[in-house]
Amino acid sequence: MWYLKSVRTRFPPSPTGLLHVGGLRTALYSYLVAKQSKGEFLVRIEDTDRERFVPGATKNILRTLHWADLDPDEGVILDQGEVSGKGNRGPYIQSQRLDIYKKYADELLKKGSAYRCFCSSERLDQMREDQQKRKEAPMYDRLCCSLSEEEVQKKVDAGESHVLRLKIPRSEKITFTDDIRGNLTFMGHTIDDQVLMKSDGFPTYHLAHVVDDHLMDIDIVIRGEEWLSSLPKHLLLFQELGWKPPRYAHVPLLLNKDKTKLSKRQNDVAAEDYIDKGYLPEALLNFLALLGWNPGTSEEIFSMDELIENFSIERVQKSGAIFDTEKLDWLQGQWIRKISVNEFADRIRPVVSEKYHEVENDSDFEAKASLIQDRLTFFPEAVEMMGFFYKAPKVKADLLVNEKQKVTKEILPEVMEALKDTLESIDEKGWDEENLKEVLFKLSEDKEWKKGQVLWPLRAALTGLPYSPGAFEVASVLGKEETIARIASVKNT
Ligand code: GLU
Repeated sequence: MWYLKSVRTRFPPSPTGLLHVGGLRTALYSYLVAKQSKGEFLVRIEDTDRERFVPGATKNILRTLHWADLDPDEGVILDQGEVSGKGNRGPYIQSQRLDIYKKYADELLKKGSAYRCFCSSERLDQMREDQQKRKEAPMYDRLCCSLSEEEVQKKVDAGESHVLRLKIPRSEKITFTDDIRGNLTFMGHTIDDQVLMKSDGFPTYHLAHVVDDHLMDIDIVIRGEEWLSSLPKHLLLFQELGWKPPRYAHVPLLLNKDKTKLSKRQNDVAAEDYIDKGYLPEALLNFLALLGWNPGTSEEIFSMDELIENFSIERVQKSGAIFDTEKLDWLQGQWIRKISVNEFADRIRPVVSEKYHEVENDSDFEAKASLIQDRLTFFPEAVEMMGFFYKAPKVKADLLVNEKQKVTKEILPEVMEALKDTLESIDEKGWDEENLKEVLFKLSEDKEWKKGQVLWPLRAALTGLPYSPGAFEVASVLGKEETIARIASVKNT
């Protein structure tokens, strides 16, 4: 690993809506890098774009991070449901740090690294349109850069609205090594004079995050590939402010199956959609970790602790990662089977008890839950799968007949009769899976019936379902009295 000291990372979402799954993956990677070096993971809220600000979004994002077990060590946290801060480098919400940004903006202006721009939006639109017609990359033409000091002062005194732009050294060549992308070179003349402060007094992301990453002692910035083209501006800002830049790792985009950028039209993109659908945090995080990161082995199931141990930024690929929900569903199944029966029962109990209130006082709930743990992918499926435990099913006669198992209409009455008699002969004390198996196998032997000829109708009569846990398991959990009652009621139809 490249770091010898503990590393500070950050995740700085903008509260413009729900947390994107790509954002959750970036948060996870940042968290892992901090944790594997016993460093700190910080969360900051970047709310300087007031037009896109969505009230309540911060709380929502923090709740999602908490669901994913990615609570920050420092920064913006939820304290008893309310947004609060933790740490001594705050405030951690950018709109509360405006005077800090102003101080550095003034410094850049004074040094000549930035200049005021008074151009109207109409002029800028026209300029861009003309550039497009000439097939040139859209870029500010530096009209205001040539204003004299007196002209600028006059406009400022007259209260003319303006922004502050970074003056890019056009002849400079900027080189940098990104932890994922390797060596990068940017030419100054291809970089736009970025707006640093807007006319409303708010900084743009570009200035604000550079200031914050420096003041908050961030060692490595892990963020989406969409920011790569802005990197030279950020490096220049560090240079002009006399600061050492952090390391950077730009993670690849998430893609739809057809390799276009992950979009709402083809996939759910909000982490909350996956929470609502019932995915386990373990499954979603395992899935996101593997989107772009190659563990270098055939291992695919990783718990958070295993991710902390095995993850490495160097093994994150440069190319886009396909968001394959079939893989997610497979991981979900794996994780459902991996959690303990006790935990599984605890997680489905509220869902099932909503329909079957008796669940709350059912001391056998865990035993029943254990029979379906291998069979479901989402917790709500438990309601239907477990319904027969709480309410005797209305069994359709044709469910009992099964050609493949050689359960014919003709043989069925005889089988049901034999089942009832045999089960009645079992002592209440010996009513367990093992014994039931022995007795029923013997019945099939004595009668020269195939096992399926006995077990299919028994299982179907007890559950009313074409697919369910096996006959012995179900009968054992239901108990002697209920099992026989269900067989009798089917026999009589
Ligand atoms: N506020 C930015 C965003 O939400 C953060 C980008 C970064 O990680 O620097 O995209």
